[in-house]
Amino acid sequence: MMAKSNKKLTINYQTKWSYDKAPESIDHLLLKEKYDLFINNQFVPPASGDYFETINPATGKRIATVALANSRDVDKAVNSARNALPAWQSLNPVDRAKYIFRIARLIQEREREFSVLESMDCGKPIRESKSIDIPLAAAHFFYHAGWADKLEYAFPNRKPRPLGVVGQIIPWNFPLLMAAWKIAPALAAGNTVVLKPAETTPLTALKLAELIREADLPPGVVNIITGAGDTGSDMVAHPQIDKIAFTGSTEVGKMIQSKLAGTGKRLTLELGGKGANIILEDAALDQAVEGIINGIYFNQGHVCCAGSRLFVQESVAELVIRKLKDRMETLIVGDPLDKNTDIGAINSANQLKTINRYIKTGVKEGADLYQSSCELPGGKGFWCRPSLFTQVSQSNKIVQEEIFGPVLTLQTFRTLEEVIEKANNTFYGLSAGVWTDKGAKIFKMTRELQAGVVWANTYNKFDPTAPFGGYKESGFGREGGIHGLAAYVQF
Ligand code: NAD
Repeated sequence: MMAKSNKKLTINYQTKWSYDKAPESIDHLLLKEKYDLFINNQFVPPASGDYFETINPATGKRIATVALANSRDVDKAVNSARNALPAWQSLNPVDRAKYIFRIARLIQEREREFSVLESMDCGKPIRESKSIDIPLAAAHFFYHAGWADKLEYAFPNRKPRPLGVVGQIIPWNFPLLMAAWKIAPALAAGNTVVLKPAETTPLTALKLAELIREADLPPGVVNIITGAGDTGSDMVAHPQIDKIAFTGSTEVGKMIQSKLAGTGKRLTLELGGKGANIILEDAALDQAVEGIINGIYFNQGHVCCAGSRLFVQESVAELVIRKLKDRMETLIVGDPLDKNTDIGAINSANQLKTINRYIKTGVKEGADLYQSSCELPGGKGFWCRPSLFTQVSQSNKIVQEEIFGPVLTLQTFRTLEEVIEKANNTFYGLSAGVWTDKGAKIFKMTRELQAGVVWANTYNKFDPTAPFGGYKESGFGREGGIHGLAAYVQF
């Protein structure tokens, strides 16, 4: 086994980062070379002794190696969660709340470290990690700490009880935030947890493990294991897990659903999306253009609820397209650790390949492609220009399938009925946005759009009190608010 060593990574938010000499007044981040599994409050090596690499997508270089959990490790983690369950579920709820509150405070205290680590491992701009991902992750723990001793008030006259051991599997686009969405409600309701982050972005979940230990959570209440699809599959198959909470692709979600059929295990699925962002002619167009940009280019478009299908009313389409292209030209694609960057690195070489394949398909399908002329950073990182397809039709692949990158399609429409029909004409049903000056139109659209979340005159806004989730092939179950808490209790 390799000896553990720590290397100091020097970060400079103002300009670039480097591993070598530290200029004055900069931040330091302690990064390990090798990360083990977090089981029973201990960091333990994997049974197989195998590790995999996690890559910085902005440089293509290895950041660290991470333990690859196999079925024996999954079994160990589940047993640890099972052993911790009786004491955790019978703990005075006020004390459970204190632990969750402590985790929230510790995340807040380490906000800078978490932000840097998230941007390095994931590729997202530091501005977003720092102002959205990490504060929202803390907010989820704060919010659920508040519920822990008030479950009887959340579900009056229904005697809520925990489900037991929950297995949680998350994707790579909001690594710490997705971990918070999963762990916080599970703990508040008295469950114990085995969580697996995505294989390309395990580092902030492992940092969270360090905090959980620091918060003195009883051993085994939260276990964090790392690995890829096989590790997730072993979790799904484990007989001692009472519920699987999965966030990821529709394809894998369907597989999990069929594996769990007839087992009696609970399941919630947060899957893919192809959100419609709809601009009516009476909207405040400059604000709407900002909403379009935020809807699709936020987090490189790696957002399940991204407004990836833009619908613009015909009478203002020409003007909106001009304003949109002008605004696209101002976007900076660059180093995720530079605070001026708008669009960071694509999360992996594989995801970049997928996005480029869709861009080629769009061109082949006859759509007009516009890409901003910005300079892309050189080197071995994974980059993609903000892209816009016009002259698309409803049947085009790029309109129907989730691309999960900074690629927008634009269609025009004349009437509300026409756009509602087009917006609903998809297998997905996760999100939508409506931009208009008229309240009555907002109410009509929000009633008739088949989407779990409909934003009005804004886009991609999240809050722990608001339930989030999908219809149709975007999954079932909700996260956030009382609805999200309900997914972790039985009556
Ligand atoms: P993915 O389905 O490939 O992987 C998600 C997670 O599942 C990863 O941790 C992965 O290791 C694991 N996994 C892979 N195969 C598995 C299997 N057979 N059994 C069990 N676990 C398995 O998805 P991804 O590429 O990581 O994430 C992108 C997808 O996630 C997009 O489709 C996006 O829309 C979706 N997503 C949805 C939401 C939501 O709230 N609805 C939020 C974020 C992302």
